[in-house]
Amino acid sequence: IAKDEGGRCFRFFQPMMTSKMTRRIQLDQELRQAMTDCAQLMLFYQPKVDLRDGRICGVEALLRWKHPQQGMISPAEFIPIAEDSGLIVELGDWVMVRALEQLAQWQQQGMAVDVAINVSVKQLLRSNISERIQTLAQQLGVASQHVQLEITENNIMDNMSRIMPQLQSLTQQGFTLAIDDFGTGHSSLSRLRDLPMKVLKIDKSFVANALRDQKDVQLVEAIIEIGHILNRTIIAEGIETAEQMALLQQLGCEEGQGYLFARPMAAEQLEPLLRQGTIDIRHEAMA
Ligand code: C2E
Ligand code: MG
Ligand code: MG
Ligand code: MG
Repeated sequence: IAKDEGGRCFRFFQPMMTSKMTRRIQLDQELRQAMTDCAQLMLFYQPKVDLRDGRICGVEALLRWKHPQQGMISPAEFIPIAEDSGLIVELGDWVMVRALEQLAQWQQQGMAVDVAINVSVKQLLRSNISERIQTLAQQLGVASQHVQLEITENNIMDNMSRIMPQLQSLTQQGFTLAIDDFGTGHSSLSRLRDLPMKVLKIDKSFVANALRDQKDVQLVEAIIEIGHILNRTIIAEGIETAEQMALLQQLGCEEGQGYLFARPMAAEQLEPLLRQGTIDIRHEAMA
């Protein structure tokens, strides 16, 4: 708008800001309501594949919101809003309950799979998540060994000392911790070494750029090497092409996730794949 008005943006800046804020406030309220309406919020699951043999080693739970008037709203929009307002603490608890219930159901049906849940740092700061998740897992009869918790790199580093006790307690209980979107934040190597995170998830921006730019290949290679020196498991996210897969295999990356293998999908849709247990990742099958 400001551009169309030939630079007289002072008149339009204010209303634009306001409408953005109004949308945020409104979405936050509607999201709060959505938590009591089973038809609006649901979890999708995306497989994680062992890049050595195609075995499905786990699934990541990803929240989906179907707004009654506006249709699907991306978590990339509503999660930051929920984080700002603090609603993420309740919302994250809802996700944890649903994901663990689903895991319990799959296990009862004989499908061996691990579930990864995205956790916001606000949940670690404002709730006793380690106690809560242990109670839930016990009630539902799922072993902590089958549950991963993903936390984004930036959030961890900004709050490291405050969240450390919770991270350590979660690890002691047998939950696996992962650093999400790794490479986009500002970890120092010493902090990385001290964190009890067994898994590093390389951010999809590196995977996307790796075949366009030789520097990015080297960066991914370095990330994998550092991860291995520190005895971490590496997962690459956002693998979309067979070429990206081949490169990551060659660099020794253990696991991968991306549209090439499977999109995030509803639990029932995923079940045939889970029963099968593997995805055919031979280069010919994917190309
Ligand atoms: P994330 O945890 O890094 O999840 C990976 C995102 O990449 C997901 O986006 C997934 O759908 C997408 N993705 C998977 N494969 C590909 C691919 O091959 N190409 C591309 N371009 N994208 C791919 P989604 O589902 O939109 O979620 C976005 C972010 O929202 C997540 O990033 C996570 O940070 C957050 N989020 C989603 N669900 C939850 C939740 O239950 N709790 C919390 N705290 N955050 C969540
Ligand atoms: Mg994640
Ligand atoms: Mg990620
Ligand atoms: Mg991400």
